[in-house]
Amino acid sequence: MIKKILIANRSEIALRIIRACKELGIKTVAVHSEADTDSLHVRFADEAICIGPAQSSESYLNTLRILAAAEVSGADAIHPGYGFLAENPEFADMCNSSNMKFIGPSANVIRKMGNKSEAKALIKKAGVPVVPGSEGILKSIEEGKELVEGIGFPVILKAVSGGGGRGMRVVNSMEEFEMNYQMAQAEAQGAFGDPDLYLEKYIKNPRHIEIQLMADQHGNVVYLGERECSIQRRHQKLIEESPSVVVSDELRQKMGQIAVQGAKQVGYEGAGTIEFLLDEDGSFYFMEMNTRIQVEHPVTEMVYNRDLLKDQIRVAAGEKLGYTQEDVKLVGHAIECRINAEDWERNFMPNPGEIKSFHVPGGPGIRVDTHAYERYHIPPFYDSLIAKLIAYGKNRDESIARLNRALEEFIIEGVKTTIPFHQRLIKRAEFIEGNFDTGFLDRINLLE
Ligand code: ADP
Repeated sequence: MIKKILIANRSEIALRIIRACKELGIKTVAVHSEADTDSLHVRFADEAICIGPAQSSESYLNTLRILAAAEVSGADAIHPGYGFLAENPEFADMCNSSNMKFIGPSANVIRKMGNKSEAKALIKKAGVPVVPGSEGILKSIEEGKELVEGIGFPVILKAVSGGGGRGMRVVNSMEEFEMNYQMAQAEAQGAFGDPDLYLEKYIKNPRHIEIQLMADQHGNVVYLGERECSIQRRHQKLIEESPSVVVSDELRQKMGQIAVQGAKQVGYEGAGTIEFLLDEDGSFYFMEMNTRIQVEHPVTEMVYNRDLLKDQIRVAAGEKLGYTQEDVKLVGHAIECRINAEDWERNFMPNPGEIKSFHVPGGPGIRVDTHAYERYHIPPFYDSLIAKLIAYGKNRDESIARLNRALEEFIIEGVKTTIPFHQRLIKRAEFIEGNFDTGFLDRINLLE
């Protein structure tokens, strides 16, 4: 039984967790930094505790303060959301040894999956196809060069501890190899405190297709179809949808079953996602596993009519999943646009500040997950996601039509947002036809 959950996060996801808890009759404790006193997650939680100054290291990443807040408030579980401590195995360990259930898989699984090259090796053993590349960490520039002789260019150098689309470099020739290797190492050290790299064949024009999984503590694992996340800017997702126009029922089943196999092999528990690259020829390769709820989970919720947060909390409490793969039925189509406080015309530069007016769209098929409101000050310290707009329709055309009109209704004044960007993008013929890959956005110019 879980009676009280401390939410170790902020913004829309903290609010999303609170909503699930309320529906389950679970009490909530919000923690927040001094910069987030006026955030909606603070307002809607049953209790709120300020845990420190604005900088994440002093607040949302401060494990001791968070655990102290959980102790003081009498919480019996901690939900990490996404980002911050969600994939930190030490934190998961600390929670569990303080008798607070960390809502997610075991620290051991998080640790294994958090090391991207180790995860790849492990998942390969479970029979999941992986991108050809180094077995584990690259030990030297020479080892890398030797490998490329076999694989061929282009290749991609990736930080073992990388995430969020950062710490990656594409290399096109032997001449560039050494310099890119050194730069990637320096970047990885700077961003993740770990210079280790691994190498992969760079798949040309792939689709990013990910499988949503849900697993209980009793060995039941189901997949809830795929999400198409190929609309990315510099490896960061901007639009996600489910289902993908290129995934047939047959391919979905194949990818889903393989993902379930992988999850079973590692003893997975809770909500998780396996990310794949889908090649033009229809083959697909494991890229990584995210051991948490993802930003884009709502599109899956809409088309499978399930509440993934509630499922995640229920299974963390030891409950059985309560449904089987046969019960998982895909109905309709959903697309999500990430609304960021960014000046998309100036290289998506973050644009924090006060929201002067805020009008949220509504009507059939529209869902908005946001912590923002009129007069809300977007603090400059965290990521720039201020809302997720999700449009559901009986098919993709209806979902796009609803998205178009909802973007028009969505009024945010005072800060620049990515709304105009999305309006332009979803009117492009390539988007409407579903004809895009992960490189699409970086190839076109929407400013024209
Ligand atoms: P992160 O954890 O930072 O999100 P991923 O490993 O999931 O990193 O990769 C993010 C994105 O980078 C992918 O969605 C894809 O666009 C691109 N990418 C990663 N690996 C490859 C590869 N081997 N070939 C082509 N593109 C890749």
